[in-house]
Amino acid sequence: MPLKEIECQNCGTRLKKRVGEAINLSENPKVIKDVKEGKINFSYCPKCKAKIEHKSHVLLTYLDPPRWIWLVSQKYQNPRYREEFFSSVIPPGSAELIDQDMVFVEFGTPCESLEYILENKLPQTSKDWMELGKIHTGDEAVDCYKNALKINSALSEAKNLLNEELDKLKSYR
Ligand SMILES: [Zn+2]
Repeated sequence: MPLKEIECQNCGTRLKKRVGEAINLSENPKVIKDVKEGKINFSYCPKCKAKIEHKSHVLLTYLDPPRWIWLVSQKYQNPRYREEFFSSVIPPGSAELIDQDMVFVEFGTPCESLEYILENKLPQTSKDWMELGKIHTGDEAVDCYKNALKINSALSEAKNLLNEELDKLKSYR
């Protein structure tokens, strides 16, 4: 991993860290646990102790079948970011060839719903679907909340989150 200079957003202290652009999970299966436990892509500032995200996103890859998972900082969780990212940031042509997913996390914080993404599992309960919706955005989040409500139509938190997400989508289109 290349050594890069990063800056604390809180106090401006500069430090050098090894910053990874991509992690191949097929070659480094032990890292999957670290990813779920929120142990990648951040440091604490040595001066003010604030959390510093090394990069706005990390690419997680699987080889066989090829699959890319963009793990993005929660700060960017909105449908517009996702749309712009997939239309401008990713290598041209890769979208058609490789199954790609984007999820939003707070680096440094464990995220249990990542297991559905990393292990390609389907949630079984309404709560699990709702939690999965919370790390997505746009139509993908909407689908998760709808699945939660199919199992339990009285889940008011899922209803609220669904409406919020639909409002966000409306304002972008
Ligand atoms: Zn600092």
